[in-house]
Amino acid sequence: MAPISLASLTTLRLGGPAERVLTVSDPADWAEAARSVDQREGMPVVLGHGSNVIASDAGHPGTVVVMRTRGITTTRVDENTVAVTAQAGHPLTDLVAWAAAEHLAGIECLAGIPGTAGAAPVQNAGAYGQQIADTLDHITAWDWQTNRPRTLPAQACRFHYRQSRFKAEPGRWTILTVTLHLTRCAQAEPVTYQHLADELGLPLGARPPVREVTAAVLANRRRRGLLLDPLGPDARQVGSVFLNPPVSSADSARWSAAGCPVHTTSDGQLRASAAWFLEQAGYGPAQFVLAGVRCSARRTLTLTAEAACTAAGFTAALDQMATRVLLGSGILLSVEPVQIDVQVPPTLPGRVRKC
Ligand SMILES: Cc1cc2nc3c(=O)[nH]c(=O)nc-3n(C[C@H](O)[C@H](O)[C@H](O)COP(=O)(O)OP(=O)(O)OC[C@H]3O[C@@H](n4cnc5c(N)ncnc54)[C@H](O)[C@@H]3O)c2cc1C
Repeated sequence: MAPISLASLTTLRLGGPAERVLTVSDPADWAEAARSVDQREGMPVVLGHGSNVIASDAGHPGTVVVMRTRGITTTRVDENTVAVTAQAGHPLTDLVAWAAAEHLAGIECLAGIPGTAGAAPVQNAGAYGQQIADTLDHITAWDWQTNRPRTLPAQACRFHYRQSRFKAEPGRWTILTVTLHLTRCAQAEPVTYQHLADELGLPLGARPPVREVTAAVLANRRRRGLLLDPLGPDARQVGSVFLNPPVSSADSARWSAAGCPVHTTSDGQLRASAAWFLEQAGYGPAQFVLAGVRCSARRTLTLTAEAACTAAGFTAALDQMATRVLLGSGILLSVEPVQIDVQVPPTLPGRVRKC
């Protein structure tokens, strides 16, 4: 049988063959699947929908576990709170739509983020002022270090802005289920994000119905080129390629005065707009960075792979962009997507950092 390429498992459609692909569709099959992994080859790589990874052209010389388990169950916590457990492979967009239909508040702003529920805690997926850590109660996971199932409460997941214990300990954990505490409420959480308030035509702090918020988030994402359209010109992408860089309060005032948007994350950090720095460095929507790699038609911060693109070309484009920003503004950009077996070019050690 021909080997399965990582390109077929990732939204960038880049990456060479995997030695072995293990697709898990039924939670009951997990124990046997885990036993079948040959630990001598190292801990397996886990994929959901592959919407936040750059896989190497050489492929992966071991097992790739693809989580396709689906299902949502609920239990009552108290009069207003429902514990919602999703299987790791359940699509996040589906979970958010389900919660909105059930009038459950807490994840309405995550509408339109591609990928699986199980991957959301890995980079503490978030948008429009909400992140999965805000409602996550606990996860269950397979710990490849001890070969045992574990339950990790939210505080053990070490969440920060687009960061978690799972990202910091690559390969150690395969998340099996995610349990959120959502609030049964006619109204969404207060709107804290200006783009969303503008889309709704409401002031910050307003609390419209949950369904209105998910609809507004989807409309705003569509307008700003933040939805994944598998048939559109920017189909081959991983969303934002750089994290918004942290800045000190003194630098924040300086960059704000120069016109750079700066926002405070929920863990109190000041973060400046990575897109603004890229634009200062001369990049813009639809512009080619290198042959085969261009900024998306709508956003400078999203890179689109063209037919001739390779993973090496894609990471070289990231490196070129980060280098120009570093030389022009002194700002060190960190790559957001996870790089699987991709080497940072040796000529520029640490300049494009993995995170
Ligand atoms: C158009 C577009 C818009 C996006 N918008 C946003 C946004 O607004 N906010 C945001 O935060 N992200 C955004 N993203 C990035 C991405 O969709 C999210 O990070 C998403 O959570 C990734 O899910 P996935 O299933 O595709 O993960 P994958 O890409 O398959 O994996 C990502 C990482 O998680 C690990 N992983 C996956 N599943 C598991 C599991 N079950 N257990 C342990 N580790 C696992 C992988 O090993 C890898 O390290 C966007 C991407 C695109 C293409």
